[in-house]
Amino acid sequence: MKVYLDNAASTPLDPEVLDAMLPYMRDKHGNPSSIHAYGRETRAAIDDARRRIADHLHVSPGEIFFTSGGTEANNMALQSGVSSLGIKNVISSKLEHHAVLHTLEFLEAQGKVKLHWVNLKEGGAIDLGHVEQLLSENDQVMVSLMHANNEIGNLLPTAETGTLCQANDAVFHSDTVQAIGHYHLDFQELKLDMAACSGHKFHGPKSTGFLYVNGDRALQPFIYGGPQERNRRGGTENVYGIVGLARALDIAIENLDRDRAHIEGLKAYLITGLQNAIDDVHFNGESGGDGLYTVLNVSLPITEKREMLLFNFDINGIAVSGGSACSSGVNEDSHVLSAIGADMERPSVRISFSKLNSKDEIDYLVKTLVEIL
Ligand code: PLP
Repeated sequence: MKVYLDNAASTPLDPEVLDAMLPYMRDKHGNPSSIHAYGRETRAAIDDARRRIADHLHVSPGEIFFTSGGTEANNMALQSGVSSLGIKNVISSKLEHHAVLHTLEFLEAQGKVKLHWVNLKEGGAIDLGHVEQLLSENDQVMVSLMHANNEIGNLLPTAETGTLCQANDAVFHSDTVQAIGHYHLDFQELKLDMAACSGHKFHGPKSTGFLYVNGDRALQPFIYGGPQERNRRGGTENVYGIVGLARALDIAIENLDRDRAHIEGLKAYLITGLQNAIDDVHFNGESGGDGLYTVLNVSLPITEKREMLLFNFDINGIAVSGGSACSSGVNEDSHVLSAIGADMERPSVRISFSKLNSKDEIDYLVKTLVEIL
């Protein structure tokens, strides 16, 4: 049996998304900047995609800037945001994805910003009291805190954080990559200034995404070149990717409540199955409780099988991901699990679901895990 439970890494492309993309790969090849009919056709497709995405998030089309994915969107928010909005201080957390963490470290190494790491509560929840304190102690601040954590599923009280930022005149950026397509998000209610999105986390194509930038915040270009994306990101647009991204979001939002109920059912079933089958199993972060419903981060009892765990899953046809990756004999522990003070001697496995998973697959996963252990 082949079981794919690594959907926080990437999801399979929806066949309907592929159908929407194919005409722009086969026939509709005009450059969207050309003024002839071929160009107008692809320009119209981009405009339509932008409008539909903006509608889903309750923002205006002019606030959506297409990028090559979540990593680029985060880079644009942080790099262009810092230089364009006069930012000198950034408040963030050690739980961020490397797309944010490494960009912030680069900006600090260049002497452009001072970084302030927010304290974490038990299980990795962001200490909003500390965010408030840091906001009151610093000027020219950007807060960058992710909406949903890709490893441990922790959810930020995003609207509350946005309110704090507004009250303190700070710019608020959030990496919403793991949340878009999985929740009904209203970016205005969340009081976001900037938010990063990636298409391949909700059955869209890889290397597609966008940055939302509130119309009141004027960013300088991130990529210099032609006038694409209102002069913020030069380069001929990824037309079929953008078409696929918008179609994937349409489908995700249309079926969100049904798919969410299905995935939540599978997750609860897996939690019970693991608790019944394995002594001393627990769940990292908020993933076993009220966290992101697509992610479960399982902490297993200490075993000498640890090093071979993912390999054994793989040879049994199961794709999941681990809290530690073994590369050239060196164990690189997850920065997220270390930051929340998880017991790093215990093996951790991240299981992440999509609408395509079934109870049979969960049964097979639990049975295989028991055999491996
Ligand atoms: N941010 C988070 C929270 C992610 O999970 C990912 C992907 O793993 C990214 C950013 C990067 O997105 P992309 O793969 O589109 O560059």
